[in-house]
Amino acid sequence: MSSTENQPSSNFIRHIITKDISDNKNNGKVITRFPPEPNGYLHIGHAKSICLNFGMAEEYNGNCNLRFDDTNPEKESIEFMESIERDVQWLGFKWANKHHASDYFEQLYDFAVQLIKDGHAYVDSLDAEQIREYRGTLTEAGKESPDRSRTIEDNLALFAAMRNGEYADGQFILRAKIDMASPTISLRDPALYRIRRVHHQRTGDDWCLYPMYDFTHCLSDAIEGITHSLCTLEFEAHRPLYDWVLDKLQTPSHPQQIEFARLQLEYTIVSKRKLAQLVNENHVNGWDDPRMPTIAGMRRAGYTPTSIRDFCERIGITKKDSWIEMAVLENCIREDLNDNAPRAMAVLEPLRLVIENYPDDQVEILEVSNHPQKPELGTRKIPFSKVILIEQDDFAEVPPPKFKRLIEGGEVRLRSSYVIKCNEIIKDDAGNIIELRCSYDPATLGKKPEGRKVKGVIHWVSEQQSHPAELRLYDRLFNVANPDSEDNFLDAINSDSLKTLTNCRVEASLADANSGDRFQFERTAYFCVDSVDSSAEKLVFNRTVTLRDTWAK
Ligand code: ATP
Ligand code: MG
Repeated sequence: MSSTENQPSSNFIRHIITKDISDNKNNGKVITRFPPEPNGYLHIGHAKSICLNFGMAEEYNGNCNLRFDDTNPEKESIEFMESIERDVQWLGFKWANKHHASDYFEQLYDFAVQLIKDGHAYVDSLDAEQIREYRGTLTEAGKESPDRSRTIEDNLALFAAMRNGEYADGQFILRAKIDMASPTISLRDPALYRIRRVHHQRTGDDWCLYPMYDFTHCLSDAIEGITHSLCTLEFEAHRPLYDWVLDKLQTPSHPQQIEFARLQLEYTIVSKRKLAQLVNENHVNGWDDPRMPTIAGMRRAGYTPTSIRDFCERIGITKKDSWIEMAVLENCIREDLNDNAPRAMAVLEPLRLVIENYPDDQVEILEVSNHPQKPELGTRKIPFSKVILIEQDDFAEVPPPKFKRLIEGGEVRLRSSYVIKCNEIIKDDAGNIIELRCSYDPATLGKKPEGRKVKGVIHWVSEQQSHPAELRLYDRLFNVANPDSEDNFLDAINSDSLKTLTNCRVEASLADANSGDRFQFERTAYFCVDSVDSSAEKLVFNRTVTLRDTWAK
């Protein structure tokens, strides 16, 4: 391993921060923030932003704040806030301070009053439709609102009355007075405040006037002394406004906004609005459905924090939009679980196998290691007895070419156990195979059979000592790489994204498994104990990821 292998790969943001520190800008401090709007659960795209913001702060001995951007009360809720805190912590990050944009409502109002006093903002009575008309286009200058020339005194009085609830929703807005002819559309007198009578989850009915994102964000950053305000590329066009507001007002600091490319991940959707639609229209079973690209869904599916952080590191940070293959994410969790998940045996679709030459009531306890390369993961006890369950498709009455598993008259090894031979097939009246009569070779425990080669190895559980379990086989939620390119992304939903197997049997040791425990079920896939539906009476496991990439061409 080369000495640089564990070093994070560099990116343009690191370069900017390193240079700022060497120039002693911001007294060499780095303060970042992660600013989610609490209008849904966090998704894998947010993980990228979390890893970047918290990661940069960690790397430069700085701080990262968690800030709820809660200025759109209609769609926001305490449930979403709690889920966001849980998810950030689960990913392994600690915020220096937790803030809410709503904590600043009073300060923001004062800043707005200051803008009015300085002649940089005015109250406008145009409605939304007219504002759009007046805005102009990329090639055409906008038109000034007749209200633009209102006196400062009148603006101050109107703004105070807006706050006092004297006007109806939408009757007036507060706009910045910048330049209706600016080639930068976001500078054509953008809205700063709107009247909206909605109950706010934190400030209750104190306000009927709410600040717009562009006004709130830069000032919240400045109030907190953020040095580097990292956001996604779509905010590049808003940067002139970000800087304009801070230039016009006396603020504690002037943070630098730096944009990076959003994560776009194939075969899924990273937009809270669309994820909310999947939940609200019951296309999935909630925000934490294991098929969802939410942190909560991925956690429930069995993803580890390490695998998600590893993914964010691997995809890197750039200025250019690009698509990431789902296989990149899946490989991260596959590698982590391959290294760290204990092995176990589970039979998905059982076929009964009776070992005729094994004593009727005997139960042998085999001591088996939990991980082939990691003795430190210990061993477990696996009971072996006369009646064994194997996978239906590990037996073939008419074997296809190169079939190495069990056939009539053939031998196979039961994993970590004996070599057995199938002597007879038992069928029901309808011709279905219901049982195999076998014999075992007592000399083959941990030893090769004498005088012959047995190639196949299959997994199994003892019928008596195994536990019934439900296994949920999850697959990608969408059939196409970019569901957003469809007329309706819902048409691209993969109807086979969940297959539930209810007759599975898992080995005895799994009775003690705890919610969230992860395993490699040998020869099958990686699974995790479902944190919602699994119980001592009914074990439920979620498939986290297959052993190999089954989507690769
Ligand atoms: P969505 O469209 O899913 O609602 P958003 O950008 O509106 O996303 P916010 O809650 O405002 O969601 O996002 C919080 C932070 O996470 C922002 O700084 C945003 O830029 C970042 N972020 C959101 N989606 C992505 C993504 N796909 N890749 C990287 N960062 C993202
Ligand atoms: Mg947003």
